[in-house]
Amino acid sequence: MLRAGIMGGTFDPIHNGHLLAAETALDVFGLDEIWFVPAATPPLKSGAPDASDRMRLDMVRLAAEGHPNFRVLDIELERGGVSYSVDTVAALQERCPDTLLSYIIGGDRIGDLAQWHRVAELAERLEYFIGFSRPGYPADLSALPSPLRDKVKTADMPQMEISSTAVRLRRAEGRSIRFLVPDSVYEYIMRNDIYGS
Ligand code: ATP
Ligand code: MG
Repeated sequence: MLRAGIMGGTFDPIHNGHLLAAETALDVFGLDEIWFVPAATPPLKSGAPDASDRMRLDMVRLAAEGHPNFRVLDIELERGGVSYSVDTVAALQERCPDTLLSYIIGGDRIGDLAQWHRVAELAERLEYFIGFSRPGYPADLSALPSPLRDKVKTADMPQMEISSTAVRLRRAEGRSIRFLVPDSVYEYIMRNDIYGS
């Protein structure tokens, strides 16, 4: 059975913190592939993304390009509406019955996991959630109810103090975002003049 880790997010834009979390999941859990899934409308997040769906998808594709184990799926953008992970996982399991799926989340998402739409069903469908701490958000499972807690495996990764919000803010202030995002994504942002003031 192929084992894949889903890396869902708004990716507005994708940055090196996302990529290192994905790489660490491959490395630590021996996954075969990472599937990046940009959300259409993320649940539990206020406000629409700054960049268009097209641009967010383009940037994720650029970032994943050339990595032998990274794939990019536009399933949530194609479906449109609010992107519930449980719907995505159910659809992917229908499409790829021989793949065992895990779902990768940062510490901030571990905190709100119990509020995710139909989270019990989602947990049931997964091998496990893979949780990484990020600066300001330790991979703390103590607040999770126990059946859910048992489904989360945590691992250490080199901490990267990068968020898409910080990348957008730096751009808006005219500051450099080089080395926070892959070079190809940096070039794309500059060429298309996104996130500027
Ligand atoms: P925003 O500031 O817009 O919320 P973000 O940097 O949190 O952007 P998302 O697209 O919201 O990026 O996150 C997608 C997934 O990646 C989430 O599970 C999030 O916790 C995780 N993640 C984001 N940044 C990091 C990081 N620096 N280290 C580890 N995980 C991260
Ligand atoms: Mg976020």
